[in-house]
Amino acid sequence: MRKKVIAGNWKMNKVLSEANSFVDEVNGKVPNSDNVEAIVCAPFLFLPSLVEKTASSNVKVAAQNMHFEDNGAFTGEVSPVMLKDLGVTHVVLGHSERRELFAETDETVNKKAHAAFNHDLTPIVCVGETLEQREANETMSLVETQVKKGLEGLSAEQVAKTIIAYEPIWAIGTGKTATSEQANEVCTHIRNVVKEITSEDIAEKVIIQYGGSVKPANIDELLAQSDIDGALVGGASLEAESFLQLVEAGS
Ligand code: PGA
Repeated sequence: MRKKVIAGNWKMNKVLSEANSFVDEVNGKVPNSDNVEAIVCAPFLFLPSLVEKTASSNVKVAAQNMHFEDNGAFTGEVSPVMLKDLGVTHVVLGHSERRELFAETDETVNKKAHAAFNHDLTPIVCVGETLEQREANETMSLVETQVKKGLEGLSAEQVAKTIIAYEPIWAIGTGKTATSEQANEVCTHIRNVVKEITSEDIAEKVIIQYGGSVKPANIDELLAQSDIDGALVGGASLEAESFLQLVEAGS
């Protein structure tokens, strides 16, 4: 049985005091369980404080992006070495907002995935189609390309540890959730792609999340699907109470 991974993606929200209060509130309430893992994906500035505050809790801390180089002349960037040094455990890569607004490509996502594993960080690799692509029947081929290019050159063992988040762009922040069947159909396809590039055994292990307007009211139905192993949640992860409900649904 695969565990459920619930990751709250705060995006560019909160100030430090709000981030701190959030973890103070959830720290003691996230269960120590083999069935569920709770992750907060926070802006870089909050990471040192959040890592310190969650040191003895079951909440893990992720960055929302990083550069692929270890160090150097990359003004404004944050490296995997810096994240690892802080005690960050996960990093979100290739979120659709980064692909659309900050020119991330499958190639940069791939470089970043390698960099993450070089520094023992777990990547959460995001894939997903626009509404136009869905309507043109391109969802499956697009997602397949994103998965294959994003994970290219990783060892089977690394692929097994990667978290893949399927996030249809038309469902992000719009209140429009893919139906659980639509979401599962693509997650099943992603698992088949992982099988094709590695093995059945690895494909059975890999965690595949769904993201896009997930909230306490729809998470049960999504998690009940055969190939959905958790959620990457934006809006509904900003309030501690709602984040805890999502984690509870996974446990
Ligand atoms: P949403 O965002 O839950 O607000 O739709 C999800 C995401 O972008 O990760």
